[in-house]
Amino acid sequence: MPKLNENYLQLKDSYLFSEIAHRTAAYSEKHPDKPVIRLGIGDVTRPLCECAIKALHESVDEMGQSATFKGYGPEQGYAKTRDAIAAYYKRNGVEVDADAIFISDGAKSDTGNITELFGHDNVILIPDPVYPVYVDSNTMCGNKVTYISGNADNDFLPMPDHSQHVDVIYICSPNNPTGACYNKEQLKEWVDYALENEAVILYDSAYEAFISDPELPRSIYAIEGARKCAIEFCSLSKTAGFTGTRCGYTVVPKELVFTSSDGRKMSLNAMWNRRQSTKYNGTSYIVQNAAAAIFSEEGIKECQENLNYYKKNAKVIADTLTELQIPFYGGIHSPYIWFECPNGMDSWTCFDYLLENIQVVGTPGAGFGENGKNYFRLTSFGTYESTVEAMNRFKKLFAK
Ligand code: PLP
Repeated sequence: MPKLNENYLQLKDSYLFSEIAHRTAAYSEKHPDKPVIRLGIGDVTRPLCECAIKALHESVDEMGQSATFKGYGPEQGYAKTRDAIAAYYKRNGVEVDADAIFISDGAKSDTGNITELFGHDNVILIPDPVYPVYVDSNTMCGNKVTYISGNADNDFLPMPDHSQHVDVIYICSPNNPTGACYNKEQLKEWVDYALENEAVILYDSAYEAFISDPELPRSIYAIEGARKCAIEFCSLSKTAGFTGTRCGYTVVPKELVFTSSDGRKMSLNAMWNRRQSTKYNGTSYIVQNAAAAIFSEEGIKECQENLNYYKKNAKVIADTLTELQIPFYGGIHSPYIWFECPNGMDSWTCFDYLLENIQVVGTPGAGFGENGKNYFRLTSFGTYESTVEAMNRFKKLFAK
């Protein structure tokens, strides 16, 4: 009998989305006449932009001709795509070398796989609440996690505790699920703290494209010193509607060099390169061409139209909650709105209450960590019409 990885026994059941689906289906079966509005899922609804579609068609045609057919590509990604991403960083005022960029099939894989570069006795700091992949991927390899609390007192933007030593720090900004977004001073404090501790920041910027204030950093590398202490993960899922097309990228600067226990220099860039070359055969040529097209001037403009659509929905939700005096976070530089469950409800009670009374489905905050148990996440990824209708129902239900 094989010995199994019993760390899997330590995982909490990931019943969040299946439980939401189960409760919603049970309600709809009982009340077929009452249409449910879904503002819970983190998936996009707008189609791919024209630039991406054109690049996909052209690349498919190339694959059908022996002169232009492509087989295995470079594991790190094609130069064209890496250069386009480096140029995108530059456009946002940040210098990133193309050879520090690794193209992948999305940020979920990379944020999950990055644990392989680290040992098992690190102090690993993860915010609560946050995207659950960070905790689960560490649990799967037997790592212990230290939580840092995001809460109403710190506007869900926890800051370092300078009396505590850490080795690995996860930051997600703009945050899923809270929508909270760090400013430059706050990120500088995290970078300085990481440098003091010789720690690594694993920075997830999957929602950077939702930041509309030019003063807010869209990349950790907008902060001085970050190249010496941070890996950045990004995704085209929300930026360009690639949730089904699949493409992301991870930046591992060459400056990230640490010392092994026997005194040898170890480069995280070289390690990630080795890891990817061994276990990943590259993102498809077709998808990488679509990704490169996204980062052209025209592509950025077209994606922005979809982002504006979602941002308009987020404003409808934020304006409604403001009017109803329900405290909330996010909704400006993020597709997520994180509100305090009214009347002291816990998040699952709030879920049932909204489903039963106004047929609006969201995501209970408890699914993102202990600190989410009295909060609720709505997303702006629905249609404008359904978002407006959901908020009209909110107004009727919560009007004082
Ligand atoms: N990081 C965060 C914070 C996310 O919320 C998500 C998706 O919801 C991902 C990463 C995963 O992105 P991808 O679709 O690129 O795997």
